[in-house]
Amino acid sequence: MPLDEYAYDLDAPVHPVSAHDYMPVEQLRALQLHRLKGLVKRCYEHVPLTRKRMDELGVRPEHIKKLSDIKLLPFMMKSDLRDQYPIGLSAAPISEIVRFQCSSGTTGKPIVITNTQNDIRVWQEGVMRCLAMGGVTSSDILQVSYGYGLFTGGLGLHYGGEGIGCAVLPTSGGNTDRQLMLMRDLGVTVIACTPSYFLHILDEGLRKGIDFKHDMKLRKGFFGAEPWTEAMRQKIEDITGIEAYDIYGLTEISGPGVAGDCPCRSGLHIFEDHFYPEIIDPETLEPLPDGEVGELVFTTLSRTGTPMLRYRTRDLTCLHKERCKCGRTIRTMERINARSDDMLIVHGVNLFPSQIETGLLRVKEVMPHYQIVITPTGALDTLEIKVELDPEYYTKDPAVLAPLSKRVHDSVHKIIGLNAKITLVEPHSLPRSEGKINRVVDNRKQR
Ligand code: ADP
Ligand code: ZN
Repeated sequence: MPLDEYAYDLDAPVHPVSAHDYMPVEQLRALQLHRLKGLVKRCYEHVPLTRKRMDELGVRPEHIKKLSDIKLLPFMMKSDLRDQYPIGLSAAPISEIVRFQCSSGTTGKPIVITNTQNDIRVWQEGVMRCLAMGGVTSSDILQVSYGYGLFTGGLGLHYGGEGIGCAVLPTSGGNTDRQLMLMRDLGVTVIACTPSYFLHILDEGLRKGIDFKHDMKLRKGFFGAEPWTEAMRQKIEDITGIEAYDIYGLTEISGPGVAGDCPCRSGLHIFEDHFYPEIIDPETLEPLPDGEVGELVFTTLSRTGTPMLRYRTRDLTCLHKERCKCGRTIRTMERINARSDDMLIVHGVNLFPSQIETGLLRVKEVMPHYQIVITPTGALDTLEIKVELDPEYYTKDPAVLAPLSKRVHDSVHKIIGLNAKITLVEPHSLPRSEGKINRVVDNRKQR
């Protein structure tokens, strides 16, 4: 029997190939509406802030009669979680909570999310669906090099991997030498970590003379928790011969496994039977039709610990209009290459680090290790891009470097329309990361 009318059926076995992936769209919408009604009722009854906001708007749970009525509901933001720190938005008693998780919270207080057993299962199922879409089976050995603990990456992939029946190797982040040794000795076939940490692992491996295509059994990677481009995917696949899958998620909504690549890799499938997506105009807050780019908003249809109504993620993307060729009926979204918080304004031009990454990686002589430095110099700011040369092409010869840096400059210029100062640096000289990376150094005072 289901836990209650809107939550997840705790007694049913968690299955990686969820029938909901292929549900006829009308049935999926009916399920979403059913769960939405239950969720709104639960929030209204158990979350004082939501009740207050709904009362102010004159909306009551019984006003939700069709899915599009979701637009009557108030939004939630990260600041709400901060203001209600630690667990003012929790809708379940502590007796039902089985786990706390925190979002990194680089500045100020972290945000705390409470999870019930139901929420842990929904989260685990999302990760299992991602791994299964990528072809992972119980015969795989999965190395989880995402950080464990308050950050959701490690535990998320861990339980997802165990759910599939993989042999899980919980290395967490760091101690890269040991990561490489275990990867090779155990014949790890699948790795999960941030793309930047994987680059670091590769880099260390290449330095030790490891040929990933022949010395390792690695065949797939699941990378997420930070933006990475198609150009980066290509580079990773070229160096290692693995298939690289994108996995998306956020602590506020559950963790990794909110959406992921299928083998078509033409967008990330959102597990919208649990996480209902909307795209809004971040200025007017009006919902945008599928196909238009705006801010991604999620409603956690089946969450019971810290349910989220219309949570504004700050991530920019669009929902695809076309159904994916794989046959799944759940919608896909464009990969997240832009988070509004990451936008840089240089010389009045808006740009995202991912655009620079794409420009850089079109030049085969450079590696995906780069840093963006913005410095105020007189009236105009200087945009400097430091990028490491591929060891194979490394040289100090100015006759080679000058035309190469011009090519890198032009490739980046083509995308961002700005003249950046390109500095080609020695291999292994820029900072590496064992988790999420920050590639931007902004020396301007106002930031
Ligand atoms: P924090 O907001 O503190 O970084 P999380 O660790 O929960 O909290 O990270 C969630 C955020 O990470 C997302 O909102 C998104 O910006 C980013 N993210 C997660 N997965 C991906 C991905 N596959 N591609 C791009 N960005 C991602
Ligand atoms: Zn698909």
